[in-house]
Amino acid sequence: MDNNATTMLHPFLIKKMSKYYLNHYANPSASHSAGRLANKGLEDSRKIIAQKLHCCAAEVIFTSGATESNNLILRGFMLAHPDKNHIITSDIEHASIYETCKDIHNKNRCNVTYVPVDRNGIIDLKKLEAAITPKTAIISVMLANNEIGTIQPIQRIVRIARRYGVPVHTDATQYVGKWKVNVKELGVDALSASSHKFHGPNGVGFVYIHDGLNIAKCLTGGLSKEQRMRSSTPDVPSIVGMAQAIKFNLDSSRYERNYLRVKKMRDYLEESIKKYFPTAKINGHAKFRMINTLSVSFPNVKSSKKLMLLLDRKKIIVNTGSACSAHKKSRILEHIGLPDNYINGTLRISLSEYNTMRECQHVIRVLREIFAA
Ligand code: PLP
Repeated sequence: MDNNATTMLHPFLIKKMSKYYLNHYANPSASHSAGRLANKGLEDSRKIIAQKLHCCAAEVIFTSGATESNNLILRGFMLAHPDKNHIITSDIEHASIYETCKDIHNKNRCNVTYVPVDRNGIIDLKKLEAAITPKTAIISVMLANNEIGTIQPIQRIVRIARRYGVPVHTDATQYVGKWKVNVKELGVDALSASSHKFHGPNGVGFVYIHDGLNIAKCLTGGLSKEQRMRSSTPDVPSIVGMAQAIKFNLDSSRYERNYLRVKKMRDYLEESIKKYFPTAKINGHAKFRMINTLSVSFPNVKSSKKLMLLLDRKKIIVNTGSACSAHKKSRILEHIGLPDNYINGTLRISLSEYNTMRECQHVIRVLREIFAA
């Protein structure tokens, strides 16, 4: 139940990927027949992802994951626009945006505005608009938060940004691939995603870059790859696995079923926690929240890590927050104004289609045992 950290590979992908490891393993840039076969796997995968996102294949750039996608967008955009020196983001971004903004600020003397969020984790749109200046290069706000699951009003952000001609990037890592996203409807200029969050292989991801958005390359080397935006030989087996995972997840017949099943399990956990632990707080927006995510804070618990390990002993794997900030107090929980005596007792339960209702019942039973002891 730590699926916002990473997910299990869909087992059927091993066979699909092994075809590319063992047979079509040639370098896809080579013009011999073996290279062309690998390249076909690469380009077919690009088309599948583009179709699912409702964009053109040329707008999909493969990367090593969302951290690289986020770095490419922020650093690449700032490099390509030396006349601008301001980035707007939110207080609750993932470290791959937050730390990148800090680094760009330190090295390039670029100003960064971190827009605050309310107690549900929703960004303050008035403050976001007030922060825009003629020097603002880009606005980057995540689609769904990895710790509390809150979903941001990206379309409204895009509408504001358009009035000032500022492009919008969204880190959609926790959402894209698992759930349907139409980049045209969302209106964003760029979007990041990572395969291991949606039952694809690790170490591969992509970034959607709207045709015409000028991004300078950050990895130098061979010229002709990924719309000249990223050098390095692409990991074709993983890219094929990622595209097949998206296709499988968003397939209409199972999509609806899975969506409802995961939501039902999460709602069961939430309702049971409210019933048996009335002083606990559920974090994130009640409505605009990912349907697999439950961040719950129990008051006056000395250490959430200890609580996590007690659950672990009963074979329940949850997290205290983001895997990337496992040893620090959660910046996200501080920014939504959660008091310290609640922050210390926070668990993040993040489900996937591979969880079962029986497992959820086991969680509630074990939590009751732990708190009764
Ligand atoms: N953005 C968000 C919202 C995330 O949750 C994560 C991973 O936890 C990342 C970016 C980074 O993804 P990756 O580890 O694939 O680089």
